[in-house]
Amino acid sequence: MHNLSIKQLAEGLRSRQFSSRELTQHYLDRIAAHDQRLNSFITVTREQALVQADAADAALKAGTAGPLTGIPLAQKDIFCTRDVRTSCASRMLDTFVAPYDATVVTKLHAEAGMVMLGKCNMDEFAMGSSNETSWYGPVRNPWDLRRVPGGSSGGSAAAVAAGLAPAATATDTGGSIRQPAALTNLTGIKPTYGRVSRYGMIAFASSLDQGGVLARSAEDAALVLQAMIGFDPRDSTSVQREPETYADKLGRSIAGLRVGLPKEYFAQGLMPEVRSCVEAAVKQLVEMGATLVDISLPNAPLSVPTYYVVAPAEASSNLARFDGVRYGHRAEGSRSLEELYKKSRGEGFGAEVQRRIMIGTYVLSHGYYDAYYLQAQKVRKLIYEDFRKAFQQCDVILGPTTTDVAFELDSKTDDPVAMYLNDIYTIAANLAGIPAMSLPCGFVNALPVGMQLMGDFFQEARLLNVAHQYQQATSSHMRTPKGFE
Ligand code: GLN
Repeated sequence: MHNLSIKQLAEGLRSRQFSSRELTQHYLDRIAAHDQRLNSFITVTREQALVQADAADAALKAGTAGPLTGIPLAQKDIFCTRDVRTSCASRMLDTFVAPYDATVVTKLHAEAGMVMLGKCNMDEFAMGSSNETSWYGPVRNPWDLRRVPGGSSGGSAAAVAAGLAPAATATDTGGSIRQPAALTNLTGIKPTYGRVSRYGMIAFASSLDQGGVLARSAEDAALVLQAMIGFDPRDSTSVQREPETYADKLGRSIAGLRVGLPKEYFAQGLMPEVRSCVEAAVKQLVEMGATLVDISLPNAPLSVPTYYVVAPAEASSNLARFDGVRYGHRAEGSRSLEELYKKSRGEGFGAEVQRRIMIGTYVLSHGYYDAYYLQAQKVRKLIYEDFRKAFQQCDVILGPTTTDVAFELDSKTDDPVAMYLNDIYTIAANLAGIPAMSLPCGFVNALPVGMQLMGDFFQEARLLNVAHQYQQATSSHMRTPKGFE
């Protein structure tokens, strides 16, 4: 069952080949059998899942079911869930149970009827590219257990890639959906900033954070994403826009599609074998009728340094709320308020989170604000302008998602800058706010390679259609890791 697409699973449920309870139990059994090797879940919600599955079966029987009713899903542990712990992979929130559901959770479970299998591991507060900053330990890549699955949504990625869930939610502040998708052979999409509500999604860098989905195909991603989007009055940056569906817009030919190839994305630093995979995919798209346009995003190389000013600045402000007083970890034995703050935050936050808070506080401080923060905001505008100009010449932008394939655990933990460079191709889309996705395009040494598609604002349907058309003609995305059959 875990090799079926979401559409096939929905058909199976509707035609009574299996019930949602059976399907849910199947995934729970797989989690029990395989997740010790991966560590992709922080919390598995067995009992609640079966209760939701029974409710789904009742809806299916009564004829009130929607297209996703009864389909299991895993949630990244950054989305607040009422009655179920939401840790954000931090010791700070190790015992935190939110009193409310994130809008994404309400939409996918209460409204669309999906069954929540549990909460997925991630980098602490979504800061990382390898899932090694989690308080609950690293996640392993099902394609090679010695390697990382990427991050920060590494638990979501490993779970879906290993067939422990049909799809999972994820978030992307600077690549955290796309980079793990690339390293685990998944299709992941980060929509336009503001399309998915951030209400109840624990904040890292609010002007960049965006929820999305990791799935095994563009079609699966489309089905889940269309149930997540929509205006939310409880998120002040949510966009007022008509509801939209994606899954019914996947059949369009890509003949005449103008694919922009940014020269900065094929420059020094790209592993030659990864480059070959992406070039083969480009060739495939040309055979399907696409035309190529050479473009330039001249400020793209500045995206990593810009991001590492803007994101820590926002993080330092967002994480100020964890003071040991209101909620979260509280250190024992403090004799003054200041000591309580220091000890609680010192114990509750891991090294990477503390580093970000220090950087963020520094770049916002008097005397440095103009030199760093203001400067970064100006460069951010230039990066946005690059995309605006590029989309006058092309319909989608294509390039590699990462420079390399999945790396070994512990190989970059002592070198933050090497770790930060993982997102060299992904971060620009967050700074500009545009939608972007990653999809499989081949293998190097039996490890998956991803290609990235970026589109103009609100062009999610177009991106998903291009990805789906490509997946109709190719089979990389169908491959599954050995040992998780
Ligand atoms: N890897 C980047 C970081 O560490 C991006 C993380 C993300 O997108 N959440 O900040």
